[in-house]
Amino acid sequence: MQIYKVGGAVRDRLLGKPVTDIDWVVVGATTEEMLAKGFRPVGADFPVFLHPKSGEEYALARTERKSGRGYGGFTFHASPEVTLEEDLIRRDLTINAMAEDDQQNLTDPYHGQRDLEARLLRHVSPAFAEDPLRVLRVARFAARYAGLGFTVAPETLDLMRQLSESGELEALTAERSWKEISRALMEDQPQVFIEVLRECGALKVLMPEVDALFGVPQPEAHHPEIDTGVHTLSVLEQAARHKQPLTVRWACLLHDLGKGLTPEEEWPRHIAHEHKGLKLIKAVNERFKAPKDCQELALLVGKYHTHGHRALELKPSTLLELLQSFDVYRRPQRFEEFIAACEMDARGRKGLEQRSYPQADYLRGAANAARTVAVQPLLENGFKGPELGEAIKRERLKALKTYKEAASA
Ligand code: ATP
Ligand code: MG
Repeated sequence: MQIYKVGGAVRDRLLGKPVTDIDWVVVGATTEEMLAKGFRPVGADFPVFLHPKSGEEYALARTERKSGRGYGGFTFHASPEVTLEEDLIRRDLTINAMAEDDQQNLTDPYHGQRDLEARLLRHVSPAFAEDPLRVLRVARFAARYAGLGFTVAPETLDLMRQLSESGELEALTAERSWKEISRALMEDQPQVFIEVLRECGALKVLMPEVDALFGVPQPEAHHPEIDTGVHTLSVLEQAARHKQPLTVRWACLLHDLGKGLTPEEEWPRHIAHEHKGLKLIKAVNERFKAPKDCQELALLVGKYHTHGHRALELKPSTLLELLQSFDVYRRPQRFEEFIAACEMDARGRKGLEQRSYPQADYLRGAANAARTVAVQPLLENGFKGPELGEAIKRERLKALKTYKEAASA
């Protein structure tokens, strides 16, 4: 048997990037030989094994044939006769279809190296169109390597467009889509992911609610970029620049969905867009089965982001409602993430990227003020049950009044 490094490890070494996980392909071996060498099989469908020591993935060279819709609709054929070239041709991009032996000799039948130099994300063969997930993968690689100058080859974009129009994207499971989306959002330029999806028509299929934001104007006084879609991309860009976690990036992407529902007569104003957007945020959350913390933060940011911006003008009672909605006493981290999303929203505007956001510290101070209210003295005064709850709220409101007065003095 011959063993080669394949895929990302080869690509990233040639790019001079750190290699984190290594995928291997094994040519000329049978499952029985692998098991005899102590490899552990993973998954029933794939001829893939884990190395007994390193735990890295070793796949038998295989060919694939499309036999139906979606990911389940693939038949694999792995046997010792399958060549390295045959294995590589089923891969998505030329830059991912190179292999390397233990002497660093490169096997590159589909000119991945040429495309690396040309900074092009190009599909290997027309079989690209057999797996709709590749649309998301290419958009994700575009987001990752945009900083190096990579773009999607026009003929690959054409294929992605055909796939998006064919209805195949709808066959993707929530799990597979979310895995790509969440990884793409954590890249350095997540806005490129959305841009590429939009360019090939996939955004309209996957997240029509986000697609609808493009072409919707906002008031120029607050939004010099005017377009709501452009604003959303800038907010995402800021979130990445400020190294925000996935929860915040997800909330940034979805925070203004309500603006897509505003009747044109009301443009460029968006009355109550926060509230109107909630059902859309919920729909997108559920479509991709986003993790609970992502879902929660997106809904809270959707509902309250304008509260964040107006923090300094909020009445103490409104501030208290905000803090209660976030349960800042038990969930301080989530409130921090809300503040971060608001700040990214404020900076994701043309020419305002460097602005200061005093609302952030003001909100933190308010949360601290409310938190200082001690429960013990109230208990000692005999409050219990719902009355205790009311008394705590009263004390917190008092604390917030004092806080606001001190802050504006
Ligand atoms: P990353 O750095 O994100 O891990 P990677 O290229 O290693 O990038 P993996 O998902 O680990 O990506 O897959 C390893 C290799 O398997 C890819 O480089 C590609 O050759 C191939 N591959 C993975 N998924 C697909 C797919 N859906 N269609 C075609 N080829 C794929
Ligand atoms: Mg990999």
